[in-house]
Amino acid sequence: MQATDFDVVVIGGGPAGSCAAAFARQRGLSVCIVEKEAFPRFRIGESLLPMGNAVLKAAGVWEKIESAGFVEKYGARFYLADGSAEKTVDFSKGYVGGLERTFQVERAKFDALLLEHARSLGAEVRIGTAVREVQEAKDHVSVTMGENGGAVAAVTARWVIDCAGRDNLYGSEQKRAVDPARWARRAAVYAHFTGVPRAEGPRGGDTVIVRMPEGWFWLIPIDTERTSVGLVTTTSAWRDLGVEPEELFRQTVAASPRLRELMGEAVAVQPYRVTADYSYFRKELAGARVVLAGDAAGFFDPIFSSGVYVATWSAQQAVAMIAEAQAAGRGLKDRERAGYTRRVKAHAEVFCRMITAFYDNDSFAVFMTPRPPWDLGRGLTSIVAGHARLIWPLWWRFKIFLVVCWLQKWVPLVAPIDYEATVMRG
Ligand SMILES: Cc1cc2nc3c(=O)[nH]c(=O)nc-3n(C[C@H](O)[C@H](O)[C@H](O)COP(=O)(O)OP(=O)(O)OC[C@H]3O[C@@H](n4cnc5c(N)ncnc54)[C@H](O)[C@@H]3O)c2cc1C
Repeated sequence: MQATDFDVVVIGGGPAGSCAAAFARQRGLSVCIVEKEAFPRFRIGESLLPMGNAVLKAAGVWEKIESAGFVEKYGARFYLADGSAEKTVDFSKGYVGGLERTFQVERAKFDALLLEHARSLGAEVRIGTAVREVQEAKDHVSVTMGENGGAVAAVTARWVIDCAGRDNLYGSEQKRAVDPARWARRAAVYAHFTGVPRAEGPRGGDTVIVRMPEGWFWLIPIDTERTSVGLVTTTSAWRDLGVEPEELFRQTVAASPRLRELMGEAVAVQPYRVTADYSYFRKELAGARVVLAGDAAGFFDPIFSSGVYVATWSAQQAVAMIAEAQAAGRGLKDRERAGYTRRVKAHAEVFCRMITAFYDNDSFAVFMTPRPPWDLGRGLTSIVAGHARLIWPLWWRFKIFLVVCWLQKWVPLVAPIDYEATVMRG
C-alpha cells in the first residue's frame, strides 16, 4: 500500500526537487517526490558552479558526486569568434577562498545520482508519474497525479514544493504571473559531440565560451570522450536566416575561425535539440503552502551556468522556511512568502547583471580586459564562480565594474571590439 499523506510533496526529480527532498528528510519530514519522466533522462545544464558545492555538501551528496567520475572544472575560457582575444577565468584566483573547483556533469547521471540520494534518505519516489492538479486548502494541499500508464492517485500534504522546471503541466494560478522580460528572446541549439579538442591538464575541464556578434557557443566536456556544444542566438536573428536548427549551428560554426578549429573533427552523437524562450521569473514564488523552487520559480540565461546552483540553493531556502512554519503548526505568513521571493530574486539578480553585461558589446569588451585595474578581476572571478552574495570586497568591485561598463559607452576606457570583424560572413 502506498502512503497517501505526506509532510511534503515535491513535484519534479531534477536537482531542485532531489535537494529539496534531501533537506526535508534531514529535518525529519515525510516526503514524496513525483517525477513524470523515466530516469535516467537527458537534461541540458551540465556545467556546475563552485558556489553550488556547499549546497550539495549540505544535502549530504557531495561525497557521492566526488566519487562518480565527473569531469573536474577549474574555470572557464572566453574567446572572440576569431580567437583574437581570450580571457581565462581561473577559479583559484578569486577573492573568496574555497571556490577553486567543481564539476562538469552529464545530467542524466547527475540527476539520477541526486534522486537516488533523496531515496536513500527515505523519500518515496514515484517515477513516471505526472502531477496534474494541486489544490491548496487552509491546512493542507491535495495533489492529483497520474502514472504514464493511466492510474490516477490523490495524496495530501502539508506542503508542496514545485520543482517541475520550466514545464508547467498542471494549471496553476500562482504560475501565471511573470516579471516583465529583460532581454531579447533567445534560443539554444545543442548536442553532444565527440572529437572536440581540449586543453592539456586541468584546464581541459574548463567551460569554453565563444562570443559571436549575436550570440555565443558553449563547449562543456562531460566525460573523457564527449563534449556538450550549444549555440545561443536571438530568435529574431534565427528567423531572419530561416534555416533548420542543424543548418543554423553549422553556418554559425563555419563563420567563426575559433569554432572551426574546435569543431573541425567533431561528430554529433545525439540529435540536435532546441530550447527557446527559457528566460522568465515568476512574480510570486510562494503561496501559503505551495513554494516554487529552481526553474519552476525562474531562470534567466545559461551563460554563467547559474541554473543548477540557484535551483538547489532556492530548494534549500524553501525547505528551511517551511520547516519553521511546520514546527509552529501553521502555513506561511505573508511576510515569509514575500521574503522568500525577495531573497531568491536578489540572489538571481547578480547573475542577471552579469548576463546583461555579457550581451552588451561595450560591457563585454570591459569583461574581456586581460588585467582590469583595482583588482576587479579577483572579485569578478568569485562572482563567476557563483558567489552571488555580495560581501563588501565583491560589492565594491562589482559596482566599479558596472560603472566602467556604463562609461565605456561614451568614453572607450578599454579598446572597443569590432564584433562583426571577428566572423566570416559567407
Ligand atoms: C540551453 C540551456 C543551457 C543551460 N546550461 C546550464 C549550465 O551549463 N549550468 C547550469 O547550472 N544550468 C544550466 N541551465 C539551466 C538548468 O538546465 C536548470 O536551471 C536546471 O535544470 C534546473 O533544475 P530544476 O530541478 O529546477 O529543473 P529540471 O532540471 O528541469 O527538473 C524538473 C523535473 O520536473 C519534472 N516534471 C515537470 N513537470 C512535472 C509534473 N507535472 N509532474 C512530475 N514531474 C514533473 C521534469 O520531468 C524534470 O525531471 C541551462 C538551461 C538551458 C535552457
